This record gives sequence, C-alpha cells and structure tokens, in this order.
Amino acid sequence: MASSPIESGLSSVGGALWPRGSALLTNSLLNKGTAFSERERDALGLRGLLPPRVFTLEEQVVRALGNLRRKPDSLEKYIFLTTLQNRNETLFYRLVQDHAEEMIPLIYTPTVGRACLEYGAIFRRPRGLFISIRERGRVAEILRHWPMSDVRMIVVTDGERILGLGDLGALGMGIPVGKLALYTACAGLHPGYGLPITLDVGTDNAALREDSSYLGLAHPRVRGADYDAFIAEFVAAVREVFPRALLQWEDFGNTNAFRLLNENRASVCSFNDDIQGTAAVAVAGLLGALRETGGRLADQRLLFLGAGEAGTGIADLFVAAAISEGLSAADARRRCWFVDSEGLVVRYRPGLKLAHHKLPYAHEHAPLRTLAEAVDAVRPTALIGVSGQPATFTPAILRRMAELNPRPVVFALSNPTSQAECTAEEAYRETQGRVLFASGSPFAPVTLDGRTFTPGQGNNVYIFPGVGFGALACGAREITNEMFLAAARRLAELVTTDDLALGRIYPALTRIREVSLELAVSVVEEARRARLATLPLGDDLRSELAARRFEAVYRDYV
Ligand code: NAD
Repeated sequence: MASSPIESGLSSVGGALWPRGSALLTNSLLNKGTAFSERERDALGLRGLLPPRVFTLEEQVVRALGNLRRKPDSLEKYIFLTTLQNRNETLFYRLVQDHAEEMIPLIYTPTVGRACLEYGAIFRRPRGLFISIRERGRVAEILRHWPMSDVRMIVVTDGERILGLGDLGALGMGIPVGKLALYTACAGLHPGYGLPITLDVGTDNAALREDSSYLGLAHPRVRGADYDAFIAEFVAAVREVFPRALLQWEDFGNTNAFRLLNENRASVCSFNDDIQGTAAVAVAGLLGALRETGGRLADQRLLFLGAGEAGTGIADLFVAAAISEGLSAADARRRCWFVDSEGLVVRYRPGLKLAHHKLPYAHEHAPLRTLAEAVDAVRPTALIGVSGQPATFTPAILRRMAELNPRPVVFALSNPTSQAECTAEEAYRETQGRVLFASGSPFAPVTLDGRTFTPGQGNNVYIFPGVGFGALACGAREITNEMFLAAARRLAELVTTDDLALGRIYPALTRIREVSLELAVSVVEEARRARLATLPLGDDLRSELAARRFEAVYRDYV
C-alpha cells in the first residue's frame, strides 16, 4: 500500500494533471486553504483567490475548533465537519485526530444516526456513489465514474438497518461516509483509498416514501432474485474495477447480512462489521471485564437481548474463543442464550419458525416470554443488549443481575444513545456501582456516592479500522474470525490498570491511533500464521505499518 494514491494519479506539480487555481482549492485531498505558502500561491495560480495572511495548520485547527464549538448542537457540528471534510481533508483529519474523544461521537455514533435521519434536509453535496437498482447492467460503468482509480476500501450499505434506527433507504449514506472517515482518522488509511457506496433498492419505510424531499427510490424494497442479481453484479463489478479493494458490508438487514457475508466471503475479501466487528469489540469487552473479575471466558454465561447480526455474531466469536480455551463447540454454545422479540430462543416455540442464524443457540428449554424470566432461568454472568430497544434493561433486571453476580457485566450496545437498553446511570445505580458496564454510544461519567465511573464505549471503532488496515497492508486473501479474535485479544490487553480503576474496560479513545496500529499488527500476524497474507512485509511490522499511515500534515507543493 503506497502512502498516497493521489501521487500515483497525478504527475509532478506543474505537470498537466496537477490542478491549479480554483480547481486546486476545490480538490479536498490537496487543498490547504489559507495555509498555501506565498511561493505556492504564485506557482499554482492562487494569488488573489485567498485572503493575504498565511496560516499554519495548527492555527487553522484552532480556528476550526473555535468555529465548531460555537455551533449550537451536534447536528450543526456534524454539518460543519462534513463541509470541512469536503473542503480540506488534511485539516479535517488533523482536527479529528487531535480531538478524537470530542470528534468521533460527532462524525460517527451517536450523531451520525441523527444525521442519517435528516440526510435529506442537510444534504449539501454528494460524497460516495449512489447506485440504484434501476442501474442494473451498468454498475461497473458507475464505479468507473469515481474519480480515484486505486480504491482499496469500500464500505457499502443498502440502508435497510441503519444503526438501531431501521430502514432509512438512501439516507443511510451517512454510515459508509462516517466509517471511512474513521478508517483514516483512527488507522491512517489514506482518504483517497476509500469509497462509500449506497445501493438503493427502495425502502420499506412508508414515511420516507411519502416524503417529497426523500432522496432515494420511493418504492418498496426490491427483494428476492432481482435483489440477489443486483448484488452479484455489484460484487463482480468491484472485482473488475477495483480488484485490490476490500469490501465492508454495513447495516444490511439481517435477512441479507448473514447470507451476503457467507456467499461472498470466498470470492471477495470482505467482512460485515455489524456481525464481526461488533463481535470482536464485545468479546474484547468481556475479556477486559475478566481482567477485573478474574476467571476464564469459557466459564461465562451470556444472555443476549436481541438475536440479530450483532448478538449472534458476538456469540459465534465467543464460541471460537471458548473453544480455544478448551471447551467443545456444543458446550461453548450452551453458554450463550438469546431473548428475541418472541421471548427466550428455545428449540421449540409453538407456531414459530427459527431463523437460520439462531438455530445453534436454540437450546432445550421451556419457552419463556420475558427477559426477566430468562435472567432468572439462565442466571447470566453477562447481559448483552443488542436489540435496538430502549429501557429494556429495567431497574428490576439490573438489580437481579447484581444479586446473581458480585460484579455483573452489562453491555447496552444498541445505538444510537436513544436506543440503548439502559443508561449508564441506571446500570451503576441499580447495582450499587458493582456493574462492569459498556454501551454502544457514549455516556457521560456517572458519580454515585462520591465515586465517579467512566463507562466504556463498546464501539466498533476500536476494531474495524485496525482490522481493515492490517488486512490491506498484508493483502489478506480473506478476513477470518481468527483475525477478529486476535484483534479482540489485543484490544483487551491494551486496557490499562488506570482504565480499569475508572471502571472502563476499553482503552481511552484518545489512544485510538495506537490501538488501531496494534490491532493491525495482530491481524497481519494472524494472516501470516494462517498463510493468508499475499504481500511481503518485514519483521518490524509495527514500524512498517506505522510508516504507511496517512499523516494529516501539509506537504510543500513547490
Ligand atoms: P438486527 O436487526 O439484526 O437484530 C435485532 C434483534 O433484536 C432481532 O433479533 C430482533 O428480534 C430483536 N428484537 C427486536 N425487538 C426486540 C424486543 N422488544 N425484545 C427482544 N428482542 C428484540 O440488528 P443488529 O445488527 O443485531 O443490531 C442491533 C442493535 O445493536 C442496534 O441498535 C445496533 O445499533 C446495535 N449495534 C451496536 C454496535 C456497537 O458498536 N455497539 C454494533 C452493531 C450493532
């Protein structure tokens, strides 16, 4: 992976392809705005197009931060940051990197959820490719419209299950755009290598279809053979046009997500972040919690609320980890229990057919209707919320978890914040501060009886940038569950005793660049072990990967 895809696409400065004047100012990858030097202004036809004072990048960051903080709410801040990203990516990434804890919740969850809901209203200029099912037969042609020829990372959604918000159709584009920004900010993928894509097959969200400002196809979702043919054409077109690209499936509905992942895994290097990324971050959280409580992963009993992509993905990775600790697959699966919208998932539920992905976890047990009954029956050590249903971890359920365990583990992973199964405050209060808590979206620290707890954020941002960066760097033929497990283990190791003392089972987000690099190293090591790496890398992996990262600094053009 070269450090910059733009240099390969453009000849030297002053050459025919190098943009000048206003074309340079509108090229977000090259633009420096007021930081163009006097010499550059003369050499590149910029004189007069900029106000006279030349600023440094650091000065621009201070100014941008001040402007951002003056915005009245998070959506306005999101719009500000999106506009900055479209204007000057170096400045945008410098700002995001230097203020990661403040910026990540603005460019991703929870703000991105609101941004998607309002995508029609806040839409300024397109970013990424919209490919609609009307364009079947022309997908490769549309991919070639993308201005960069060497794409390495594609994040694609069909908008059916955006965060915990459901079917947002074409408005889901905020998700691939946000995830790619995190690839750059957290792992150092050059922004020119990323391509966000929304596949628009319609929407089953009737309110959107009736909204006159809706941006997408206003008909019900196309499903079945036509949908499958469209996806197959898309995958083939990606392989043809961007043969070096890794494909990240994102926020597909669960009837398609498992299928698409399994059907395409062998033909195109790909993964599904909702299934595998979530799994790794949750397993890392469990391992982090065990550093506080002691004991083995294989001895835990997990009860999930929600048996979709996130829940069964976590359980599958937990099973893989427990097997590596000596359990049989059957015993490991028996340690995972699920409650879905119909109650406890058991072998036989009158009148109900079980979806394929739930079958391994449908144990012999009498049907139970409620989560509270399931907690009593399963007596879990960890309760994991991935249902998208708020207020489902009631005070009574949290108190019961605290009766059953000296240090109960409770993860309320549903995003955005409005959908979390309980708040951090409820979790700490109802367990007298004994809970090891993590949430999908951030919660502010909680003070209880004079003690302050800092809830960890079990957010995939800890995982996917490092995994994707590592897989790209070594040219992994495939992305395996073992790679995600290696990343999860490494992430748990990176939690410090100071983190644990604060009640945090993930490292601070301020360390995200270091964390992503470490995870990338662990993925490359696993790829090599499994003989899936195709590109040569030296022995000092850490330095080599670090040197390939995009650095948000200006280069001198003349
Ligand atoms: P999904 O649609 O695949 O699954 C949702 C599951 O919840 C389904 O099994 C459904 O039956 C169940 N459910 C719905 N209503 C329920 C109810 N009232 N009681 C019990 N179960 C109910 O979605 P998913 O991909 O699994 O995501 C679920 C949630 O997890 C979303 O809110 C998503 O934002 C969140 N998530 C968080 C992270 C993270 O980083 N923390 C990552 C992925 C997903």
